[in-house]
Amino acid sequence: MEGQGRIILHADMNSFYASVECLHQPELRAKPVAVGGDAEARHGIILAKNQLAKKYGVKTGEALWQARQKCPDLVIVHPHYDQYMRFSRLAREIYGEYTDRVEPFGLDECWLDVTGTESQRKGGEALAQELRRRIKAELGVTVSIGVSDNKIFAKLGSDYRKPDAVTVFSRREMGEKVWPLPVTDLLYVGPATGRKLRSYGVETIGQLALTPPEYLKSWFGKVGLMLHGFANGYDLTPVARAGEESPVKSVGNSMTTTRDLVSLEDISAVYWVLCESVAARLREGGFLCRTVQIGLRDFGLYSFERQLTLETPSCLASELHRAAMDLAAANWDERRPLRSIGVRGTELIPASSPWQLSLFQEEAGREKKERLERSVEELRRRFGKAVIGRAAARLHADLWSPDLEKTQVIHPIGLLKTPL
Ligand SMILES: [Mg+2]
Repeated sequence: MEGQGRIILHADMNSFYASVECLHQPELRAKPVAVGGDAEARHGIILAKNQLAKKYGVKTGEALWQARQKCPDLVIVHPHYDQYMRFSRLAREIYGEYTDRVEPFGLDECWLDVTGTESQRKGGEALAQELRRRIKAELGVTVSIGVSDNKIFAKLGSDYRKPDAVTVFSRREMGEKVWPLPVTDLLYVGPATGRKLRSYGVETIGQLALTPPEYLKSWFGKVGLMLHGFANGYDLTPVARAGEESPVKSVGNSMTTTRDLVSLEDISAVYWVLCESVAARLREGGFLCRTVQIGLRDFGLYSFERQLTLETPSCLASELHRAAMDLAAANWDERRPLRSIGVRGTELIPASSPWQLSLFQEEAGREKKERLERSVEELRRRFGKAVIGRAAARLHADLWSPDLEKTQVIHPIGLLKTPL
């Protein structure tokens, strides 16, 4: 069968942001550490944490004060995205020595297909061990690596044992090793799908694998059949060759407002306008974005960018807006009125990729939202931009000139290189 006999690795750098921070501040290593939004901003959130902080129950996304309640000794450090990008690139360079099929999944994860390469002779497990040792010795951070003949099980393996570990999930041992795992460990099975499966008595990957496909089809439609395949290790999706990803790298917009933005409400209104147009362009191009970046600039020279990875890739204005606002709330110092803000979706993937599944499986509501956003677009196209606007955006219409189009800058490349 095509695709069988492949050797696929999934490498995942452990507690990535926090590990990089500890590397630069070794005195932090024995302490519970979290990377969080700027301390001077009142609404800081936890962006990442190390293993020790995790033990105290510190969660990504929660407010800094909540985390401090659980763990009074928590050390909170500011994010250094340039460093994360550098380590991400260095890791990819090491992977690239073994194969040109290295497909990144966020900053800290990559799939590697070594089938047919020189290094295949070493065997998947030995190769994974070599990579694990090299990343640790050369970069000073740890990875966990999963090895299998397909991407789904390889990813499962890198989650299975961490940090600094290698797990092989071969097809032969699938029944004893993979099938006892909870069904929610499977990529694409989110909490909502997990709940639904559990209501039908399907708790483990094995139970999913052994459920008659026609049942799964009646519960989830076509997606049910794909999940059935995944649980049985049938996943033939290729690992993309480096440079094979979409030629469009990002979709972004920014706006210079007619008066200063002085509150989160102001920022929110402008982000609605920007996110709606970014979402529309993502849909037009057939993309979902995995990462949302924001750029903020005050009337002086001060400006900065922040980004976060979405739970599920998206092309919905409402989800981009929520991410942009989380970032703004966590990072903006309210004493600095803003003049320009921007938002950008990056790490684009085709909307037709299997990620699209989770859009449908997670909540029928998302599909509905997308339909709604599409029909609003259609109305605007037919009757003009002014015909429908979010109430929040309308209330703040003094922030932009009546000729909205002129105040928005569409960024084909991105915010980083383009002055806001
Ligand atoms: Mg990781």
